Amino acid sequence: MTTFPVDDPPATAPTDLAGVRSGPLADARAQLAKAAQILELDEGMHQMLATSRREINVTIPLRRDDGTVELFSGYRVQHNVSRGPGKGGLRYSKHVDLDEIRALAMLMTWKCAIVELPYGGAKGGVTIDPRAYSATELERVTRRYTSEIMPMIGPERDIPAPDLGTDERTMAWVMDTYSVNKGYTIPAVVTGKPLEIGGSLGRPTATSAGVVHTLAAAIAERGLHVKDVSVAIQGFGKVGAHAAAILAEQGARVVGVSDEFGGLFRADGLDVPALFEHVERTGSVVDFPGADAISNEELLALEVDVLVPAAVEGVLDEQTASKVRATWVVEGANGPTTGAGDAILAERGVVVVPDILANAGGVVVSYFEWVQANQAYWWTLAEIEEKLAERMHKGYADVADLARRENISLRDAALCIGVRRVAEAHEIRGLYP
Ligand code: GLU
Repeated sequence: MTTFPVDDPPATAPTDLAGVRSGPLADARAQLAKAAQILELDEGMHQMLATSRREINVTIPLRRDDGTVELFSGYRVQHNVSRGPGKGGLRYSKHVDLDEIRALAMLMTWKCAIVELPYGGAKGGVTIDPRAYSATELERVTRRYTSEIMPMIGPERDIPAPDLGTDERTMAWVMDTYSVNKGYTIPAVVTGKPLEIGGSLGRPTATSAGVVHTLAAAIAERGLHVKDVSVAIQGFGKVGAHAAAILAEQGARVVGVSDEFGGLFRADGLDVPALFEHVERTGSVVDFPGADAISNEELLALEVDVLVPAAVEGVLDEQTASKVRATWVVEGANGPTTGAGDAILAERGVVVVPDILANAGGVVVSYFEWVQANQAYWWTLAEIEEKLAERMHKGYADVADLARRENISLRDAALCIGVRRVAEAHEIRGLYP
């Protein structure tokens, strides 16, 4: 039997700027439009930055373990490569479509520029629910996807990394498929690999560590320390779980967490190490003893100092944003706040530390991993942690300074810095021919 995915939405033409009215791409383009206006970019430059540089759309046939064949859509988008090779994650989710990948690739471009990495922005995805397939099936999907996008990736071209639904095992398969086809081992083609094959110390917790650095920098502006604040975290995956662990270790009260199955609340703080064991055993935060069950919506509305959305896009929209009672929102996820949600948060005086700054720690340590792989010389964890902290605090300081000087939000300031650096690279390089 051959089954075809039916929920693959039609993609719009890459240059159809007016054709995308809602969703992550519309939000990403609206953010860019605002930065373009503040920076007084000319319309040609704005259009160029609103559009992907290269896109590939592939079909992946999978022979399932039971012998049937199923087809999946896969994408790799390089939004911009003017400052260096494309960089960005590979996402496996049933919600993946081309417009989502375009939006996420664009966010990667600004993110890399803000923390001064010599990269452009890229993103890949496969429209698949990874939990519905066995490890051997996912390996076949990954290897076929990699061979289909092979002309586009490479250590000097475009370097994938883990994202939602993928992990270091997925990166090992990408690295192996690429290397076998080239005839020699090329660790720098992906980041977020297992340590044994050229991964970096500190990479698995890097995004979360970066979230905590920017959170600490933001609250320090009002004289607070991590140990003084209460935090709610949406998402208990790669980003949320480690953020909870680091925050708890530093003395914060982590009062609320959630995953896709539900949430938990405990006013005097959750026992995060015990929660890790519970999740390891049961696969979810739900039913953790000694905490009240809450919904994901209730989690977003908790009366806490800091809310960290660390799951998926679009959770803070016009409905949920008006219920947020946190003083700070630190965006661990990519694109968790819609344009309408952002306007409501701003109106209500909530300080938002934007995704392209707050969650840049992952790609920063990806960069360290790539540098180490290129040099075939690996650094100590202490060196990595120190260099990560330095970059995140510098990134925050640059953004906060501009926000203060121009009296704009941290998001607009971050975008202006990222967009300006990319526009400058275009100006300096000129147009060919
Ligand atoms: N997927 C992560 C992000 O969205 C990391 C990307 C990378 O390391 O290249 O930032």
